[in-house]
Amino acid sequence: MTVLDEEALEKFKRAGRILAETKREMKAFVREGMPIIEVCEKAENLIRRKGAKPAFPCNVSVNEIAAHYTSPPNDKRVIPEKSIVKIDLGAHIDGYLADTAITVCFNPEYEALVKTAEEALKKAVETVHSGIYVSKLGAIIEKAITSRGFKPISNLTGHSIGRYQVHAGKSLPNVSHFSFSKLKAGEICAIEPFVTLPNAVGKVKNSPEAYIFRFLKKKKLGNPLAGKLLNYIQREFHTLPFTERWLQKFMVKKGYKAAFREMLSSRSIMSYPVFVEASGKPVAQAEHTLLVLEDGCEVLT
Ligand code: MN
Ligand code: MN
Repeated sequence: MTVLDEEALEKFKRAGRILAETKREMKAFVREGMPIIEVCEKAENLIRRKGAKPAFPCNVSVNEIAAHYTSPPNDKRVIPEKSIVKIDLGAHIDGYLADTAITVCFNPEYEALVKTAEEALKKAVETVHSGIYVSKLGAIIEKAITSRGFKPISNLTGHSIGRYQVHAGKSLPNVSHFSFSKLKAGEICAIEPFVTLPNAVGKVKNSPEAYIFRFLKKKKLGNPLAGKLLNYIQREFHTLPFTERWLQKFMVKKGYKAAFREMLSSRSIMSYPVFVEASGKPVAQAEHTLLVLEDGCEVLT
């Protein structure tokens, strides 16, 4: 490994340690009735205070919402009673990022669902090594879920991770599938089983809402504020996802809304729709970022 690689790896590991700590603190922090925006901001501030930056907005996805919900500015929603809550966190140091998630359960009825997501992740971590087929990993995760009487979400996947890239090109499905793709030693990847009830469809669909965005391409924009905004986004977040909550200093300016719309319509930025389980059934998730090794893996989160 070159010197730069060693440095990069150290940054991946530091981001992972910061997230592991943040995740523990968030598990103890979140309560029924709490404003969701308070949960998001707490997590993002913990990550900053520990010396990293959020790699994406803190996702707080409740019940049938599987992923990609973060509070918009002035969000009034609260954590409902008897809910299950996925908290999905990302942190980076110079773009070297880690990604991890837990499900907090306020409903005894769903404890087995949450436990199943955790067990499926544990099984996957025990199985990963250099040269393993991604299809085999998917089959192992699927079996860990179905053998406990639950159903995997078939259209959400884990992923390889790169510098300033949450999804670096390789998908890691949570179900058996056809592929010749393998994991290699030195790769960083996130494994994230999503689990739902046996009578659910077992897929997510896009909801009409979207609160997470990402820079796509530098474009010449008509509105001067849109141009400034796009420069700021590119400089601050690179190709990592962001939320409007992180654009407060622009939001108070006249014409902000039109500028934001122009960035979207020109495809300078893209939005990530909120994912909901297609039959409205509750979803649990567990996620770790790992470093693939010759004979196993190292959990970084
Ligand atoms: Mn995640
Ligand atoms: Mn992920």
